[in-house]
Amino acid sequence: MEEKIHEKIHWADAKAAQVAADAPQLIATGITPSGPIHLGNMREVMTGDMIYKALLKRGIEAELVYIADDFDPLRKVYPFLSDEYQKYIGWPVSDIPCPCGKHKSYAEHFLDPFLSAIEELDIHPRIIRTSEAYRSGMFTEQIKQALVHAEDIKEILERVSGRKLEEGWTPYYPICSSCGTISRAAILSHDIENHTVTYKCSCGHEGVSDYSKGEGKLVWRVDWPMRWSVHGVTVEPFGKDHASPGGSYDTGKIITKEIYGYNAPVPVTYEWISLKGKGEMHSSKGVVLTIRDMLDVVPPEVLRYLIAKTKPDKTIAFDPGMGLLRLIDEYDKAAVVGESREYELSRIASPQTTIPFRHMVTVVQIARTDDAIFDILKRSGYEIVDKEAVLDQANRAKVWLERYAPEDAKFAVAESLPEVAANEKPEVKAAVVAYAKIVTDAEWKADVLHNAVYDAAQATGVTGKEVFTGIYRAFLGADRGPRLGWFLEALGREETLKRLLEMSL
Ligand SMILES: [Zn+2]
Ligand SMILES: [Zn+2]
Repeated sequence: MEEKIHEKIHWADAKAAQVAADAPQLIATGITPSGPIHLGNMREVMTGDMIYKALLKRGIEAELVYIADDFDPLRKVYPFLSDEYQKYIGWPVSDIPCPCGKHKSYAEHFLDPFLSAIEELDIHPRIIRTSEAYRSGMFTEQIKQALVHAEDIKEILERVSGRKLEEGWTPYYPICSSCGTISRAAILSHDIENHTVTYKCSCGHEGVSDYSKGEGKLVWRVDWPMRWSVHGVTVEPFGKDHASPGGSYDTGKIITKEIYGYNAPVPVTYEWISLKGKGEMHSSKGVVLTIRDMLDVVPPEVLRYLIAKTKPDKTIAFDPGMGLLRLIDEYDKAAVVGESREYELSRIASPQTTIPFRHMVTVVQIARTDDAIFDILKRSGYEIVDKEAVLDQANRAKVWLERYAPEDAKFAVAESLPEVAANEKPEVKAAVVAYAKIVTDAEWKADVLHNAVYDAAQATGVTGKEVFTGIYRAFLGADRGPRLGWFLEALGREETLKRLLEMSL
C-alpha cells in the first residue's frame, strides 16, 4: 500500500518534499545565451518552474530565478554565425555585437526571444544577468576568497575530479584590456586591499584587473558554487553533463562548503531532449528546435505537459510530426478528465478553444479565408467563443503543415473534378453517387458521414475501400486523405453533394 501511494507522487512534488519546509527556497535555473535557446534548454526552466509551483502548493515560501550566464565567453564560430565572429572568440557574450543589429548585445539577441517565450509558458522568474552581477561588485568578497584560497580550491578540484591542473592554475580569469578575451592569463600578483590582480595575457599584454568592477570572472567550476552561496540557491536543476561523478556539481558541493561555508542546493538532474531522427539538440551542431519555433506550433500548455509527464531523468525523443499530434491528443484527453497532477502543472490561463488540433489541421487545408474557417467550424457545431484563440490555433496548424507535417497529412481540395475521378470505373462512380444520395438528407455529422460509406458500398456491390478512394479522388485527386467523416463535415453538405454528383455525368 505504502509503495503504491509513493508511486503516484509526481516528480515535482517528490522533489519539493526533499527540502526543509520551514525555510524559504530559491530555485535557480540558468542557461548560457550563446546560441538559439532550444527545447532541450527549456527543460531546465520548466523543470525548475514545476518544482517551484510544487513548493508553493505545499505552502513553502519559494522564489524562481533565471540566471543568464551572459558573462561566459563565446567558444567558437557556430554554424549560425558569420566568419566575422572569429574575432570575438573568448569575449563575454554580453560584450559581443548582436548578429541582427537590433539588440544590445549578442547575449540579448538570444535572450530576448527566450524571455518572451517563458512568459508565454507562464514562467515568471526573477532574471539575473551574470555580467551585471559581476560588474555590480556583488561577488567582490567571494572572488577575493577564491584568489586567497586558490591552492585549496585547486586541491579540491584535482582530488574530486581526478584531473591534474596546470602549474600556476588560477580560479580567476581577467578580461584582457588589450584583446578583450576572458583569457587564460597568468595572475602575477594580487592586491587584496584594492581588489585587483595584475596579469599577463596569452596575447602578451600585461595589465591590471579590478574584480570589484567585473573585469574578469571565476572559472565555471568555482563560479557556480560561489553563486549558490551569494544568491542563496537551495534547489537547482542542471543537465546530466554537470552531474557525472567528479563533475562540476561534485566539486561545487565541496567548494561551496569549504570555501564559502554554504550547503549545495538539492540537485535535480535532467536528461536531454532529442529530435526524432536527428539526435540530441545542440545549438553548436545546429540540431535544434528553438523554443520560438515550438511555440509557433505547440500551445504552451502542451509543451509544459511534455515536460510535466516525463521524469527529469528520462530522455525525451521529440517528434514534431505526427508525434506532436499524438501529444496534443493526449493533452486534450488529460484536460477533459482534468484531474492529473501532470495536467494541473501544465495548464495555464492562455486563450483556449475546444477544437481538436487534428480537426483544425483539416479545416485550414479546406478553408481559403479566415471567414471560411469560422463557417466550417460553426457547421461542425463548434461554438466560437474567442475568435482570436481560434485564429491562433489555425495559424499553429498552418505552421505545423508547412514545417513538420509528413506528406500524407497534407492535401488540397481540387477546384474541379480531377481527371482521375472523371475516369473512375463505372461501378465506383455509381457507388459514389449512391453515397451522395444516402447522405443528402442525413445528419451532417462526421460519424454518420463515415458510416454511410459502408451503406453505399453494400447497396452497389463494391468494397468500402473503393468508395473511400472514389470520394477522395473526387475532391483531392488522391487515393487517401484526412479522416473522411471529418473532412466532409468540414466541407459542408452543399459542396460535397455538388462535387460527388458530378460523378454521375
Ligand atoms: Zn539581434
Ligand atoms: Zn589579451
